[in-house]
Amino acid sequence: MASQKPAYTRVLLKLSGEALMSMPSYGVDFERAQAIAQEIKDVHDLGVQVAIMIGGGNIFRGIRGTAVGLDRAAADQMGLLATVINGIALQEALEKVGLICRHVSAIEIKALAEPFIRRRVIRHLEKDRVVVFSAGIGSPYFTTDTAAALRALEIRAQVIMKATKVDGVFSADPMLDKTAKKFPTIHYIDVIKKGLTVMDSTAISLCKDNSMPILVFNLNKRGNIKR
Ligand code: UDP
Repeated sequence: MASQKPAYTRVLLKLSGEALMSMPSYGVDFERAQAIAQEIKDVHDLGVQVAIMIGGGNIFRGIRGTAVGLDRAAADQMGLLATVINGIALQEALEKVGLICRHVSAIEIKALAEPFIRRRVIRHLEKDRVVVFSAGIGSPYFTTDTAAALRALEIRAQVIMKATKVDGVFSADPMLDKTAKKFPTIHYIDVIKKGLTVMDSTAISLCKDNSMPILVFNLNKRGNIKR
């Protein structure tokens, strides 16, 4: 029988805002959020410390704002707030399945979430609390992928688990291109050179420079986080 010993003891899970959305839709599908929360609980029950970086793309992305004439910095601030909304929803979902959770925002928004204090976050994890990070790194012109890389390093996670709609890194979007080839493993530099969009190049560079492994997996297959 396969051993239940987890491969990692502290992970940073990157969930895009779309993970909380049912297609074709907008905003937060709370049933879906709870289903993901249950999967996170299954991982947590193995003794794995889990921190999550939540995105905001289901509500607002800065780039969408610039398309209608907003200044990029202002549009990104709107995107940051979208991640805080998702953070609140995800915290609720995690608590509904019985986990103890702390929501930590990179922008000061004290009535809704804790400020980011690195040592405090590590303490939460050691005390078996799940940590939800929102508001990325708190600055415009970044993404929550880069924030995931930064926080993973700061909290000394062993891996970034990047949830996507496909199982792994492909030469093209396999949803659009049937000839897309899957890379079982790929070096950071090749992701950048080939212009693969699995994570943005700032996130990949940060991981590369600090040897942070990234595991890309399909969130839509039930049980995949644990697997
Ligand atoms: N954002 C930002 N700085 C950050 C992280 C995010 O300005 O450090 C803004 C940016 O506008 C981005 C939006 O928040 O488009 C939502 O984040 P992201 O696009 O990474 O969400 P996801 O695609 O993961 O749902």
